[in-house]
Parts: sequence; C-alpha cells; structure tokens
Amino acid sequence: MNLFSESNLSPDLLKAIGELGYEAPTEIQKQTIPFILSDTRDLIALAQTGTGKTAAFSLPILDQIDDTSRKIQFLVLCPTRELCLQITKDIKSYTKYMRNLKTTAVYGGSSIMDQIRSLKDKPQVIVGTPGRVIDLINRKALDFSEIQYLVLDEADEMLSMGFKDDLETILRETPETKHNYLFSATMSKEVERISRSYLTQPHRIAVGSINEVKKNITHEFYVVGYRQKKEALKRLIDANPNQYSILFCRTRMETQEVADFLMQNGYAADALHGDLSQAQRDTVMKKFRLKNIDILVATDVAARGLDVNSLTHVIHFSLPDDPEVFVHRSGRTGRAGKNGISMSLIKPEETRKLKQIKSVTKIDIIEKQVPSSDEIIKSQVEGVFERLFTEHEEFFTFDDSLIPDLSEFTKEQLVHQLLQLQLRDLALFYKDKKDLRSEKLSDERDSPYSRRERGRDDRGGRDRRDRRDDRGGRDDRGGRDDRYSDRPARAERGDRGGDRERGGKRRSSANMTRFFFNLGKKDNLRKMDLLDIINKATEKNRKRPDIGDIEILEKFSFFEADKDFQQEIISNLQAMKFKGKEMRAEVAG
Ligand code: AMP
Repeated sequence: MNLFSESNLSPDLLKAIGELGYEAPTEIQKQTIPFILSDTRDLIALAQTGTGKTAAFSLPILDQIDDTSRKIQFLVLCPTRELCLQITKDIKSYTKYMRNLKTTAVYGGSSIMDQIRSLKDKPQVIVGTPGRVIDLINRKALDFSEIQYLVLDEADEMLSMGFKDDLETILRETPETKHNYLFSATMSKEVERISRSYLTQPHRIAVGSINEVKKNITHEFYVVGYRQKKEALKRLIDANPNQYSILFCRTRMETQEVADFLMQNGYAADALHGDLSQAQRDTVMKKFRLKNIDILVATDVAARGLDVNSLTHVIHFSLPDDPEVFVHRSGRTGRAGKNGISMSLIKPEETRKLKQIKSVTKIDIIEKQVPSSDEIIKSQVEGVFERLFTEHEEFFTFDDSLIPDLSEFTKEQLVHQLLQLQLRDLALFYKDKKDLRSEKLSDERDSPYSRRERGRDDRGGRDRRDRRDDRGGRDDRGGRDDRYSDRPARAERGDRGGDRERGGKRRSSANMTRFFFNLGKKDNLRKMDLLDIINKATEKNRKRPDIGDIEILEKFSFFEADKDFQQEIISNLQAMKFKGKEMRAEVAG
C-alpha cells in the first residue's frame, strides 16, 4: 500500500483524510492499517509520537465500526488530557463524513458531570485518560459490554505515570473478545508484563524505534562544566537564531530554573512541568503552539501530548538515563520531511553515559565546541537573511516616501548598516567574552543550581526584561534586543533617573547586593513602588543606599542595592506590607 487510495478504507474515510492532505501512508500506517483490517490478532506497535500512529490505529478501526449501533465499540486510553483531546480531534476529522459516528473525550481535570451529559449522545468511540474512565465506570456512566477495539496509546507513559492498576481494571472490565492494540514509544519491562498478561499472541511492529532512528536529525553534543552550562546554553541559542525548540530537563525544579534563567535573560521561553496547574499548562502550550514563545523548557512527561510538527531543535539540557527516551525526545524534531537538530549539553563526567546512548541507539552524536562570539555573530547575520527571505509578515505599515534618497550608498553598505543596528546589542554583549572552549572544564559535582551558580547567571546580563508579558509574539525582534543590553531598556530609563536622584553616581556591582524580592507584577508591583519600599526600609539611616538594577518579574523581583544596607533592608522589609501583602527580601546569589 503506497497510497491511501490503494487501501481498503471506506470512501468516507478516504475523502476526509484526502482533505487533510494525507496521500501516502507513513511507515506505521503501511504496516498497521492492512493488519488491523484483515487480522484478528492483538498488536504491539513500537512507535513514537509524530510517526502518524493515531491515524494508523484509528482509520482501520473506524472503518469497521457499526455506526447503526449506539454502543461503545472503540476505546482509546492515553496518558494525558492534551493527548486525549488531540486524538479526539483527529478522530473527529477522520469521521467528518461518517455522520452517525460520534466520539467523546473523557479526561481528568474537567467537569465529570459535563462528560456524563455528553455520553448521553451515545458515542461509539471514547477517548479517555485511565483515571477518568475508571471514575465513569464506577458511576455506571460507561457501558463497555460491546467494546470490540481497545487501544492503549503511549502505554509506557501511562504505566510510568502510575496508571497500572487503572489499566488492569479496564483491561479486565472490557470483553475478552475485544482486540487489544498496544502502542508505545519504548518497550519497558512493565509494558512487556502488561502485554504478556492481557494480549494474546500479539503481532509486533516496530517503527521509528531504537533501530530506526530518524536519519534527518543531526545530533551534536557539547561538553561543558557544570558552572558553564547555562552560559553555554545561552550561546547555543544565540548561535541558532530563528529556532523553535523544546529543551528537556530531568526534574521539575531544573525545568523551572532553566526557564526562569532564559526568561530573565529576555528569551521568549516558558516552563512546562507537573507542578503547574492544568490551566497554566494549557496556557503555556497554547503560547508555544502560537509561537508566542519559541523555547519550551519541559520535563519528558509534561511534553507528552504536545503535538508540534515544526520544531527546529531539541535541546537535551540534561541527558535522560534511558537511551530510548533520548531517541524519543530527539524524534520531536525532524518531522514532516524537515531536518532537525538535537543538541546535548553534557558534563565531563557524563561522557560514559553518552557513550552508552551512542552504542545502544547507534546514533552518531558528534562533539562540537560551544560557539565563540564570532561564530554567534556569523549565525545571527545568517539568521537575519533567513528571516528576510522567509518571513513576509507586515508588522506595521509606513509610507515609502519616508525612505530618503539612498542612491549614494551601495546595496552592501546599506545592508551592512542595517545589520549593525539590528545586531548591535548582541555584538556588544559578546564583545571581549572569552570562549567557553578555552576555559578549563569544571568537574564540579555540587548540587544543581547552587546559590553560587545563580550568582554567576545573574551577572550574565543586566536590565533583562521578562518578555513573557511584554511580547505579543515574535514581533519585537526588530528593535533593540534587551537580551544583550547593558543599558536600561527604554521603558526603564525613567526609573534610572530616580536612581541618580537618590544615590548620585552609580556604584559598581561589587558594592551591590543582589536581592530576591517575593512580590512581582502579579502583585501590581511597579519599579516606582519598589524604589519607595527600599526608601522606607532605609529611611532611618542618615545615608542613602545606592540602588542598581531592578527587575520586576511576574511572580517575584530582583533588585540591587548598596551592600552596606543589606541587613537593614532584609530586616526592615519584614515589618512592612505592600498592598496588604507581607514582604521578604533575600540575598539572591
Ligand atoms: P501522530 O504520530 O499520530 O501524532 O501524527 C503526527 C502528525 O502527522 C499529525 O499532525 C498528523 O495529522 C500527521 N499525519 C499522520 N499521518 C499522515 C499522513 N499519512 N500524511 C500526512 N500527515 C500525516
């Protein structure tokens, strides 16, 4: 089967997928569709997200559903609400012309009563997360007596998220005669065990799994000392302009820390991890899909269910333990016929782990050096031209008569001058910066994100703004770039005037303490308020403290103030309130 038109799928399905632009089946579809249409055996399919697995299992099953019956015949179980909604959306688009066929999604974190009401429609297809399905079984809202097809999608993930008991209950509560199709990105011991217990002599298909690593992804690794990791990350991001990437971390804490670092340095980034509420996760994913943010910092689990096809890079900020997870993460780029880049930042002591990943996955991961300042500028120049030739969005209009007579300049001179303006802040930031490659690698094994580490990061650039709120999209790329600014951003200059009034000449950072402050924009705190607060906290002192940079972020803030006033500020703030809220300042690094 090289084209869908050669398959035995019904004309209604073929018409719908034709409208979606599906012509040729993907590898997993080539293997799965004929099998499900003609074979009665169970199935284990090793396939990652992005291989077209949703259509691979749903098209042949939908083809066989009796839409004159109003009983549930097809149940898909998946680990997350996002994936559940995605699969439901896909199935609904495939069944656009099957007018009697109804699909309902049931998932946690949303009103169970609304879902019970929607089940009154008598859908033949249910897509659900295991916990919610069990709740609905217990409330007798789901009748599974006629189920013929059960798909466990991302089975490895459901098991690692602790749904084992729920899955076993559902497998037991559904008719023994049904067909079981298990899809998983990895074949963990638990997945093997579940298949042995509940699947009968399953046929096995492996696509895009460990032995079939995508060829269109270039894998690079960079060895950096622990203390240099974030600085190296910043350089890698700067050396790969116009990227749209997912950056993987191991823990929720690391995810938040790295995202905060990037946001504080002015990148359009945000964090996605399990400590966020469902509503927060939805917002972050929406921003990422809309490309309002272009770097998503995520844990492996949270990134599941996020179906984005156009990622340019995957960054392994921390290596996973399991080589299959490495393949799975990397496979998020290089989709839809595009090339992708996977970059791993590894500590010197992790070279053995990387060797193991290389040998198990047979991926050629090439060592590269963290880009030098010159290389970054070169890439940025290329990035400007790339955008020039690919993006033609009009962000604003202006009258061409405003363009003066430029005939005395050559084309090269004009481009040169515009590039100087465009990349000025970046070039100044990297000017005289030492190459990371020439520095001795640190083998330090101190705990992640030690205070010392934070202190270093904070020196990376001043007057960084939290662009999360300021950016409506990627449209601020044309102006000065605050990522590299050593001058206050335009909106902040008024406050600097305030600094001078108070303290006269600014003192160098060596005499300053950088404070963390527990309130931020969400508390309606403005720079003027923070200046006032510091004034009040130090008003008993005859001298006035110098005040340096102030960054008001969403949930908290940072400010610099005279070291001599450190204790006074910390203790006096505790006794004060801002708009009824307790205040707390700590030394930040
Ligand atoms: P999945 O692995 O199911 O998450 O699918 C990945 C993406 O590929 C989805 O956006 C699908 O709509 C798309 N897709 C699936 N099958 C095909 C196909 N045969 N041709 C083109 N796009 C497809």
